[in-house]
Amino acid sequence: MTDRLKGGFLLGASAMVLATAIGGAVLAQDVAAQVVGAALDTASTGEASSGVIVLGADARRHRLVSAAGLDGLEVFDLTGARLGAVPAGEAGGLDVRYGFAIKGRPEALLVATDKTVNALRFFAMRDGAPVEVGARAVPVGFAVEDVCLLRNASDGGLYAFAVGDGGEIEQLLLYADAEGRVDARPARRINLPSKVKYCVADDATGQLYVSQQAVGVWRFNGDPEADAAPALVDAAGLGRISEESGSLALYDGGPGARYLLATDASSGRLFVYDHDAGDAWRGAVSLTGRGGAPIKEPGALQAVGAPLGVGLPSGALLVADEDAPGGADYKLISITALTGALNLSAGTPQDARAVAAPRFPAVVAVAETAPVGSPGDAADDPAIWADPFNPANSLIIGTDKKAGLNLYDMQGRVIQHLPDGKMNNVDLRDGFMLGGQPVVLVTASDRTNKAVAIYRLDTQARRLIDVADGVQATGQGDPYGQCMYRSALSGKTYVFINDSNGEKRQWELVDAGNGKVRAVRVRDFAFSSQVEGCVADDATGQLYVAEEDVGLWRLSAEPDGGAAMTMLARITDNPALKDDLEGVGLYDLGDGRGYLVVSSQGNDSYAVFRREGDQAYLGSFIVVADGARGVDGVSETDGLDVTSRNLGPGFEHGALIAQDGRNVLPGENQNFKYVPWKSIAETLGLEIRR
Ligand code: CA
Ligand code: CA
Ligand code: CA
Ligand code: CA
Ligand code: CA
Repeated sequence: MTDRLKGGFLLGASAMVLATAIGGAVLAQDVAAQVVGAALDTASTGEASSGVIVLGADARRHRLVSAAGLDGLEVFDLTGARLGAVPAGEAGGLDVRYGFAIKGRPEALLVATDKTVNALRFFAMRDGAPVEVGARAVPVGFAVEDVCLLRNASDGGLYAFAVGDGGEIEQLLLYADAEGRVDARPARRINLPSKVKYCVADDATGQLYVSQQAVGVWRFNGDPEADAAPALVDAAGLGRISEESGSLALYDGGPGARYLLATDASSGRLFVYDHDAGDAWRGAVSLTGRGGAPIKEPGALQAVGAPLGVGLPSGALLVADEDAPGGADYKLISITALTGALNLSAGTPQDARAVAAPRFPAVVAVAETAPVGSPGDAADDPAIWADPFNPANSLIIGTDKKAGLNLYDMQGRVIQHLPDGKMNNVDLRDGFMLGGQPVVLVTASDRTNKAVAIYRLDTQARRLIDVADGVQATGQGDPYGQCMYRSALSGKTYVFINDSNGEKRQWELVDAGNGKVRAVRVRDFAFSSQVEGCVADDATGQLYVAEEDVGLWRLSAEPDGGAAMTMLARITDNPALKDDLEGVGLYDLGDGRGYLVVSSQGNDSYAVFRREGDQAYLGSFIVVADGARGVDGVSETDGLDVTSRNLGPGFEHGALIAQDGRNVLPGENQNFKYVPWKSIAETLGLEIRR
């Protein structure tokens, strides 16, 4: 996935986006511009690199914080009077978000670039002044131009984007450690081929806007657990921008009144784009100070959607004016005056201090496997073996569907790699009698050989050993979804594999008498569309199969079970489910009780159903990033496995093991994440097996 974010991809996409998104070239100098004057000019200062208004508990406690170069962070009140300064290195870019928990207490967090050392520094606004709270100056490793913050709605995480002179867009996850010090880890990198001077991100939509000076304004999806989805909003020469793209701000006046504000660096004008209408251009204005002197080269911007007193009923656009006649200062432009000049609505200012609740209850993964060897969509499906004698020695088998199987320990380290073909799904059952000895039997759907791959897990040597009695052909064009079943009625062990067309087959696995295992076909049945994820309930003889676009089915797992099936959860009946439905797992509480867990891939969540009785839907959860631990969230899960068995320290009550479609923090090949069941149970009010 990371390779798709490289500059080459973006360059390739840009011509296409331009052709479709920007209809007709309109030069900025042809555009008539209304003049909008400032409601307030601040006191002049040495350097006005960028500023933010930080909202306080009441109007008297609102502050304007200025990144003032070597003067650090300067503080003004909203009459424009300078109150003081705190050291911050060489402060350049600056942004703020509210409700960031430090030692459990929500704070207004400021991030500033330190241009001398190309690092990010963190401050909490306390009693109207910035207090440095960073564990360290976090180096970004390039010439940093600007920084912006995003509270990512899909996982609740606070991210910083540092943008650079060489086109770098580095996304970092911010977190506070146990001592309350704020730190950051690289989450992913997007590269543009030339200088990115400004950025701004939108918490409501998760979108990131960057200004690539020589090119124009780009929009990306700022969620690191989603495709970056680059789109060019405007471009020099081909769109409205005359020569160089300038600074950026976003104003949120609620639905229908959300605007992207961008300066056209060469003309000094401010362009307004309709954020709710695909960033369609709505007009241009020229800005002046309170006395009418033009702001010739507007610098960094911030739009604040909150009533800020007389003349600023819907908030202000804060404009850094480094070339003001009396010395650098900031201008506060009324949002109402700005939107009024273009016959646009200012809407109802949305309080930036409000922090949205997560879309589903959230848990974190406490461990992750090493990345798989293959790039792109490669990791797919896990299987869990719980060591009954030494739980800490439990093992996870995961497919690399482009290369083979990997065996992992409970820390996620690879302890065996088998380059045996395109293994799609994998499952296991213990107690299989082979040559008179009980073994852990592992099977996988092998798309290379169109076969049932069969192994035994040597639990002492911690190795998988091929025990297939020759190639066990499935007779299918493309063996795909797969799971195993051990019948409580007969004691026999089976494997189900479906073709990618939805036809499913069942084989009995039999001791071939030579230390090998053979697959004997016992049943065929079919689904009307693509299925993949499945799990068999050995205690009840039921098989659960996810039909990706339809829902979760239940049918008999016995070879004479016939074709009758029951729809347990239809996607169209439950708004928490979003296609595709993928991996399915079973949490066994004993006595036939427990839970079914299904990957709702389309909304990066997991739905939980009661195993017994009415099999009611009990709720959904998401797996989000843990900055302190350095494990990213889980998105677009294909395969998963669930156990209630003890898997050692941290997993005493079992675990969910889930494939992660985007392994970030930092960006690497896909992998599998380990989530303790205890945290899922606590989050959704479920039981744990004791
Ligand atoms: Ca996938
Ligand atoms: Ca599996
Ligand atoms: Ca699938
Ligand atoms: Ca992830
Ligand atoms: Ca990761």
